[in-house]
Amino acid sequence: MAFKYVILGGGVAAGYAAREFANQGVKPGELAIISKEAVAPYERPALSKAYLFPEGISLILGTEIVKADLASKTLISAAGETYKYQTLIIATGSTVIRLTDFGVQGADAKNIFYLREIDEADELVEAIKAKKNGKAVVVGGGYIGLELSAALRINNFDVSMVTDVKLKDGRVLEADIVVVGVGGKPLTTLFKGQIEEEKGGIKTDSFFKTSVPDVYAVGDVATFPMKLYDEIRRVEHVDHARKSAEQAVKAIFASEHGKSISEYDYLPYFYSRAFDLSWQFYGDNVGETVLFGDSKPTSPTHKFGSYWIKDGKVVGAFLESGTPEENKAIAKVARVQPPVESLDQLATEGLTFAIGA
Ligand code: FAD
Repeated sequence: MAFKYVILGGGVAAGYAAREFANQGVKPGELAIISKEAVAPYERPALSKAYLFPEGISLILGTEIVKADLASKTLISAAGETYKYQTLIIATGSTVIRLTDFGVQGADAKNIFYLREIDEADELVEAIKAKKNGKAVVVGGGYIGLELSAALRINNFDVSMVTDVKLKDGRVLEADIVVVGVGGKPLTTLFKGQIEEEKGGIKTDSFFKTSVPDVYAVGDVATFPMKLYDEIRRVEHVDHARKSAEQAVKAIFASEHGKSISEYDYLPYFYSRAFDLSWQFYGDNVGETVLFGDSKPTSPTHKFGSYWIKDGKVVGAFLESGTPEENKAIAKVARVQPPVESLDQLATEGLTFAIGA
């Protein structure tokens, strides 16, 4: 099979790339998405199957690519099918780091769960249903671990969170379910030795072009120039997955029409929700921190936050329980990077500083 454009991967970036291809007027039969998952890119509702099919996009699902030959523009699936492309977008994302990767004893036991793809989420839901009021251990205290712990609590599970697999005090934690959230790593193995890599990802320019002609990389796998900080970085978050995918597709169409587009100018944005709490963070979490607001567990509003200050300027801002306007204000502060005269004054002004900036 041959296509003008192939997106390899069926996650967030793939879905947004497909949407941008549709916006740019891709013709029926020109574009294929190849994904090892059995379902279409799922960040519903925006990217449902119903959205993708009418545009004449070939969804080649349940198909894992096991070999990529960038020189001959060929991808080969586990079942031995060959796919040719003129332009390739690599959107293979990340894979979870497993306990077996560290050689942890008992890592292959039953009822140890990871969460990256929808079938893994389904398996976890089944296990939760099967063990009403059970005990769960969540390994890893990142935002995914925290969100999962909240979800398990809501399902009446007794949850212990640990950040070390082997408890140093020798205690044994009983668990019906163990959920592991210890990070991910970008899926670049298919391209090793064929493409330039940096900081664990595939190196791109501001248009997500890689070192190989007609090959782009977006989302978690891309190491790209972060203009705001004059540095190359990799970002594992949905906001960047969406925006980088759109940028790459815009760049592809612009170059086909002899036009140019502006460089990617990304402001890091992260968010998380647990119970009735939800936070947003913009910018860079480097330098000194200044806390503000009411962070007491008994607080009725839970409105608190933090600024990060580097070289006398605000470079990052975090806010819990912000209104849409307040979140916009902290985003603006992180982008504009206003100077700070006194850290004490900043702590006193708190959110007012961002709103007035
Ligand atoms: P992915 O969405 O991972 O997609 C990669 C796709 O490529 C998958 O479909 C995979 O099957 C496919 N693929 C890989 N290799 C092959 C191959 N060889 N052949 C065929 N197909 C292949 N980010 C936030 O900003 N906020 C959040 O609250 C948040 N919550 C998250 C919660 C969970 C449980 C997880 C796992 C991630 C979360 N993230 C969050 C991170 C976010 O989901 C990722 O940054 C985002 O999905 C990256 O998009 P991507 O398209 O690059 O990769």
